Amino acid sequence: MSKFIYGLCDMQSFYASCEVASREEFAARRKEFDDSTDPPLVVAGDPARRSGIILAATPTAKRWGVANAMRLGEALHLNKHLIVVRPHMEFYLQVSVRIQEVMRQVFPLQEQFSVDEGFFAFPVNSPLFPDPIEAARKLQQKIWDQFRIRSRIGMGPNKWIAKMSNASAKKSVSGIVWWHEEDVPALLRDLPVEAMWGLKKRAETLKMEFKAQTIGDVAAIPVGRLRARFGVWGEIIHRWSHGEDYSEINPDSYSSPHKGFSHRTTLPRDFYERSDVAVVILELLDEVCYRLRRAHQSGRRVGLGVVYEGMSGGFWKAKTLTYPTNSPDELYLELLALLDRHWDGYTGIRAVSVGVDMLQFEKAMQLNLFEDVPRRKELYATVDRVHERFGETSLIRAVSLTKAGQLRDRSGKIGGHYA
Ligand SMILES: [Mg+2]
Repeated sequence: MSKFIYGLCDMQSFYASCEVASREEFAARRKEFDDSTDPPLVVAGDPARRSGIILAATPTAKRWGVANAMRLGEALHLNKHLIVVRPHMEFYLQVSVRIQEVMRQVFPLQEQFSVDEGFFAFPVNSPLFPDPIEAARKLQQKIWDQFRIRSRIGMGPNKWIAKMSNASAKKSVSGIVWWHEEDVPALLRDLPVEAMWGLKKRAETLKMEFKAQTIGDVAAIPVGRLRARFGVWGEIIHRWSHGEDYSEINPDSYSSPHKGFSHRTTLPRDFYERSDVAVVILELLDEVCYRLRRAHQSGRRVGLGVVYEGMSGGFWKAKTLTYPTNSPDELYLELLALLDRHWDGYTGIRAVSVGVDMLQFEKAMQLNLFEDVPRRKELYATVDRVHERFGETSLIRAVSLTKAGQLRDRSGKIGGHYA
């Protein structure tokens, strides 16, 4: 039995909601539990040009068929009455920081997970939170009262289930869903494989190679077969398909978006192989870089944290670069260099974290003379659009392929998990 109840609180159409809430002419008529009271507003990359990309859309705009990552021209073709505003990233980040503070006021054990999401946890049967649904409602109401932003909260016996139940909270009227531990196997069993959060491309592999249609099908695959195909991830997939996840709340994992972005994972067992650790580093880095790009930030310092077996000892080391970047290609090599310099190569590794800080907004970014920055930025922007459009299962490692030989080489070196 889990000793804690975990929750994930996620803002609805965050950037678009920030815009609506800050405009008096729209804010007054909005109702918390009726998102059709929002205007048909979109935040788009460059409203002056029809080629701009939709970064966020209100539920009303989405009902007209508008979707994130769609070209503005295409969206206006669907409905010429769309209200188009340009992004105000610094404003969204300020709102984000304040919302995370409100989460911590209600749930002191809290972890920022992205610009508009946060995990929290509290003990089962805690006298402070006798009614979990009521506690979640208190948070939701505070966010609405203070920011006029709707939030959805999923709760369950671990972080992964909180993420999964959050997806179902998005479809509920109240926006709050709690999956009780005893119900989890039945709730997961019939969901499609692609509903498993966090698998990225592996969901496709499970469908194509293992003929798994549902999470129940995945749960029935012997863990040895998963391990043979996915390496260290096999165990994690197995665990998740059974509704289990042992990752903890890390209050410092993200800190303020102004300070830096980081991501950490506790491994299902001690890792001894450099190639396995390298895969984990790459996964964490992909996530960190994705968040950096979404926040339009680049960082000048990259850090690697390692906790050794028994969760005792380890290191945190950072390298300061001569220019800011949010490119995984560049940062990955620095991280491997840090690993090789500071790890003895045989002590078991139980947790890994990757961080990028000393941030600056991309518009303030200096051109690095040795890199074709605009072209590379365009490439990653495309990757992110595909992600947002087709889900996280789609692309990220295809970046390696488009960047040709050198990286294909590298993916070979890390054990072929992405081959
Ligand atoms: Mg959201």
